[in-house]
Amino acid sequence: MGPVYRLRHGTASLVRVVGQPVREQALFDAAVILAKDELNVLEERTSGPQKDILMFQRLMLDDAGLQAQVAQRIAQGTGAAEAMELTARDYAALLENLEDEYMSQRSVDVLDVCRRVVNILDGEPRVRPELDVPSILVGERVFPSDLISIDRDKILGLATSAGSIQSHAAIMARTMGIPAVVQLGPQLLETMEGQSAILDAYNGDILLNPDTDAVRHAQRRIVTEGMLKKRMAFLRDEPCITKDGTAITLMANCSGPEDVGAAVQAGAEGIGLLRSEFMILNGHVPSEEGQYYYYKNCLEQARGKPLTVCTFDLGPDQKVDGIADTSSYSPLGMRGIRLQLARPELFLTQMRALLRASAEGDLRVMFPMITSPEDWRKALDLVEVAKDQLRQEGSPFREDIPIGVVIETPSAALLAGEILSDRCDFVCIGTNDLTQYTYVADRLEGRLSSYFTGLPPAVEQLIDMVMAQAWSFDLPVYACGVNTSDPDTAELYVRKGMRGLSMEYRSLMQIKARLLELDLEKQSVFASR
Ligand code: PEP
Ligand code: MG
Repeated sequence: MGPVYRLRHGTASLVRVVGQPVREQALFDAAVILAKDELNVLEERTSGPQKDILMFQRLMLDDAGLQAQVAQRIAQGTGAAEAMELTARDYAALLENLEDEYMSQRSVDVLDVCRRVVNILDGEPRVRPELDVPSILVGERVFPSDLISIDRDKILGLATSAGSIQSHAAIMARTMGIPAVVQLGPQLLETMEGQSAILDAYNGDILLNPDTDAVRHAQRRIVTEGMLKKRMAFLRDEPCITKDGTAITLMANCSGPEDVGAAVQAGAEGIGLLRSEFMILNGHVPSEEGQYYYYKNCLEQARGKPLTVCTFDLGPDQKVDGIADTSSYSPLGMRGIRLQLARPELFLTQMRALLRASAEGDLRVMFPMITSPEDWRKALDLVEVAKDQLRQEGSPFREDIPIGVVIETPSAALLAGEILSDRCDFVCIGTNDLTQYTYVADRLEGRLSSYFTGLPPAVEQLIDMVMAQAWSFDLPVYACGVNTSDPDTAELYVRKGMRGLSMEYRSLMQIKARLLELDLEKQSVFASR
């Protein structure tokens, strides 16, 4: 809550005197060197994703194609600044039109680094907004360098009329703990200037000129939030060890790199489930390269903690680039690993990207919707095919990358013995689908929600069977369904002997608080490992 500060980015309106091409080229070359120096200095001051973004921008300046295009324009009589601007716009448009969302968002970095060069050419000092009071930054979009050049304690929040949550600025906002809302529409910029506002990033809203009631309500929320954060921060760094000394690994379920960063900051000891299909729900499957960068980005956000990627769980209900089999709409049809086995090129592309990313960090992979030992074996055989391909190409990957199974169908639970006996490294139990298919209760049907509360008895029996099998093969087993966020169910899982839980990251500390109070020796009424 606070005043709005409008960020402006514009370079095109400056009047410039254009010299001879040789002189303009020399000016351009000098400006690029200076811009790279500036970026180097900034890189040294930052770490993690921020540093990578700055490095990406610096490398952009070395791009031979970009340099050649600028040189060509200069040779034809265009001034250095304009040549840079026009070339950057072409590049940005090219990137923006890429179907790969992650790559298309990199267009903002091209514009950002172009602005840096143009500012140098114009003799303009780097625009460094001087904010007297902490403010909510508002703009059409926000560049990564905006966030780096303004003192963190002066940024209350960030609101953009365009932009995307995939943008580097949004990713940075997340890692810097700045509340941010994107795509608020063009009218935002017309009405904002000089106003005060309440930015509610939980709900994706901005409220202009709030009345006293709204202000009071927001103040109360801010105070409560602050208290919660303090308690969380305290708990976050405590290891999750029960009173009797049993260590429990608390992990997070995530749907993309931003989520991974937020989860690790919130105290997740790893990512127990990354739902990779979120990458493509906007309508198309990224190339191997696009996927590789996506996983690499997730690994960077995980900061050395294990990242468990579940391969695409796509079904007929998702309309993705001809993948959806519209002729047979049925959630019981071609979905999850079954769909991938029917479309091996889809699976191989994902596996190759995952394997290549495994050379970059602690990456683990698991398969969704396994229903039979045959499907499990076929999927593993395809992993070997992908490994062979990479070996022949000389691409590095982790040979012993851990591969696990998501047990989320009754048949997989019943046949767990056979599945787990074959090259399985870990077991993840997905109770959302396991409950849905055991009770024939659609998880999206609100009227059936009672089937999903706590741990339904039929599902509990299946889990007991799976855990017994996992132990017989000495495999780690953890649960990742929605009910792990329920303190009673989480405690029950631990009493049963589970030593890992994966959940929505916002629930982690509440569950940790509960488990820290648990004494397994005193009340061990359940079978324990
Ligand atoms: C599950 O089925 O329990 C699970 C965690 O996976 P998803 O919710 O992605 O289906
Ligand atoms: Mg599932």
